Amino acid sequence: MKCRFCDNKLDDSVINLGLAPPSNAYLKDLNQARKEKKFPLKLLFCENCYLLQTEDYNKPEELFTDDYAYFSSTSDFFLNHAKKYSDKIIKKLKLNNESFVVEIASNDGYLLKNFKEKKIPILGIEPTKSTYQKSIDLKIPTINKFFGVDLVNKLLQKHNKADLIIANNVYAHVPNIKNFTQALKNFLKEDGTITLEFPHLLNLLKFNQFDTIYHEHFSYISLSFLINIFEKYGLKIYDVHKINTHGGSLRVFGCHKHCKAKKISKNIELILDEELKNGLLDKKSYLKLSNNASKVKKEFNIFLKKIKNENKTVVAYGAAAKGNTFLNYCDIDNSLIKYVCDAAKSKQNKFMPGNHLEIKNPKYLEEDKFDYLLILPWNIKNEILKKYSHLKKRGIIFFTAINGIEEL
Ligand SMILES: [Zn+2]
Repeated sequence: MKCRFCDNKLDDSVINLGLAPPSNAYLKDLNQARKEKKFPLKLLFCENCYLLQTEDYNKPEELFTDDYAYFSSTSDFFLNHAKKYSDKIIKKLKLNNESFVVEIASNDGYLLKNFKEKKIPILGIEPTKSTYQKSIDLKIPTINKFFGVDLVNKLLQKHNKADLIIANNVYAHVPNIKNFTQALKNFLKEDGTITLEFPHLLNLLKFNQFDTIYHEHFSYISLSFLINIFEKYGLKIYDVHKINTHGGSLRVFGCHKHCKAKKISKNIELILDEELKNGLLDKKSYLKLSNNASKVKKEFNIFLKKIKNENKTVVAYGAAAKGNTFLNYCDIDNSLIKYVCDAAKSKQNKFMPGNHLEIKNPKYLEEDKFDYLLILPWNIKNEILKKYSHLKKRGIIFFTAINGIEEL
């Protein structure tokens, strides 16, 4: 296949996680399991532009279905993160009631509501109907479409260009990254700012985060790559910060290439240097990650079978994409893990794709008898540990497994 950005011819995959269903394809009942579709989950690395990417299989419409169940507002951590970001950026860019703020993949309005409170004009763009509907209920102006050049052309007939375009945790989920970047450029005011947040590829390598790989996550992004694609579309990066979401992300500040108003930060050189030193530009590093994943799978299976032989039980917490990739890659089913619980009502009483674990309300944990709690979303393990500290006192052992078995 050809590289999604630079068209360079790519040969073999560097990471192969076998066959997996789309990570958000929850089953309403187990009769649906017979019709479940699975696709190869493989990554290829482009040595020309440094983009680590999935093989092309699905159309985005098939992946982001109307019952797509992720609502940003279900996590207190994310609500808080969004609030802090909004306060900071309003101050930094001196946004007011004459500014215009656009958020791409605005989900249920968890972030834009902070701008609305300050009477700053906003527009959300959200392709998923269920989250779009919730955002409309909150009276946040939102368009139910995919973002791209065609949509921006239409929007510019009615709207000004934006002072701030926010795209958090969406860039990696865009199949046509070229069209998307061109659309960012076209929608941005002369001295406007784009902020992007995405999981930093550095942490995938450094901390063995192979469970962040799934079909809907098309691109695994480094600053080195982002500089290449921004340059090509007449944009540049003027600052970058490390932030702690999704196990280590970058927040990048971009503007038009010829904009003189923004000072270029030294952070850029520092992070580029760190990427080079940690092997992000070297294909061999990804092959090593692949080896680590298979070691983790082996160790995890031995651990679960040992627990089963001792007549003890394991329950999992967090039915999100990460957990799906991890459990499916490790070939886990309900003979080894009893069920999984998740705070999102939209997922409860359904079944995880692939491994078919039942998803229960976390209040189940209070009454049920079990011995181990596996935390699948390791990025919010502290939040979960705190919330369920009373279970720990009861003697239940909390652990994560992504980088080998780690008791908490
Ligand atoms: Zn490339």
